[in-house]
Amino acid sequence: MSWESNVRKVVPYVAGEQPSGKVIKLNTNENPYAPAPGVEEVLKNTDISILRKYPDMNSGLIVNALAEKYRVKPSQVFVGVGSDDVLAMAFLTFFNSGKKILFPDITYSFYDVWADLFGIPYEQIPLDDDFVIHPEDYDKENGGVIFPNPNAPTGVAMDLTGVKQILDLNRDVVCIVDEAYVDFGTKSALELLPEYDNLLVVQTFSKSRSMAGMRIGYAIGNEKLISYLQDVKFSFNSYTMNTVTLAAGAEAVRDDEYFKKSCEKIIKTREKLKKDLKELGFAFSDSKANFIFATHPDVYAEKIYNELKKRNIYVRYFKKPRIDNYLRITVGTDEECDELVRNLREITA
Ligand code: PMP
Repeated sequence: MSWESNVRKVVPYVAGEQPSGKVIKLNTNENPYAPAPGVEEVLKNTDISILRKYPDMNSGLIVNALAEKYRVKPSQVFVGVGSDDVLAMAFLTFFNSGKKILFPDITYSFYDVWADLFGIPYEQIPLDDDFVIHPEDYDKENGGVIFPNPNAPTGVAMDLTGVKQILDLNRDVVCIVDEAYVDFGTKSALELLPEYDNLLVVQTFSKSRSMAGMRIGYAIGNEKLISYLQDVKFSFNSYTMNTVTLAAGAEAVRDDEYFKKSCEKIIKTREKLKKDLKELGFAFSDSKANFIFATHPDVYAEKIYNELKKRNIYVRYFKKPRIDNYLRITVGTDEECDELVRNLREITA
């Protein structure tokens, strides 16, 4: 028997490409605008001697800034290395019953990867043909529920009535609402926290706060949920967040005005891009995220994806059942989107 028979074998998540050079990059839902100006100040003025010491293992700076912004107690906030880290910890902490957890069939493609990694059984609940989640489909015995709102890669949002319905049907398991894209026009489930002690809301600095490269994500929930998450984190790695990230992240949270303006710009460009894509014949659900999930009636998505790539324009294509004729297009600057549309016009002509 070789050592290889003892290896944990997994099929990893495949992230979008990160091409170098001058390209129009609309494939990983990054924000085209810079982070808040205060972030630059923090980075410029960092005294590197602080790096000698371990960081604050409680991530106090960011935790306090987030607690203040979202009007919750610091003990209700958990911070991690991007929301991927937070979500992975949450899977490990809360989905421990041995029963199947539930999530949509078309959704963030990391969920099934974490479930497989941690040996969590799961059931994928089909979206309807318009990519809509039906809360009543989540009325069955399960070990937990997770869904993004708005959903990814579809961009389709659920109103809080729907979210509440899922929570009401699942009071005895933890329900995670992954709000990676919530700031682009969806109502957050944060306001439901006082009513539901089993609700965990997860958000990120990667999209609306333009800090994908810094890796900051967080969860907000009932104090008891958060304390269980902390126990798992401290059983794994005490120092997940580095000193510089903590200071920069806190600064980004404080500049609410910049944050709101940046989100408004993206929303405006998104709505313009919807009009332009419609004119070219594309069909798509009404996205509330910083991307549009679109299909063309005449030209196959994979062909468009490859043609765009030849022209140094990157969008995301998933060769997966039900969505293999769709492109997920991140909303960039107005100029980037205009250039995309100009090229799409040629490709689909
Ligand atoms: N959730 C969803 C739905 C996402 O699309 C992403 C981005 N890939 C994440 C979570 C993770 O983002 P991050 O780790 O950058 O916070």
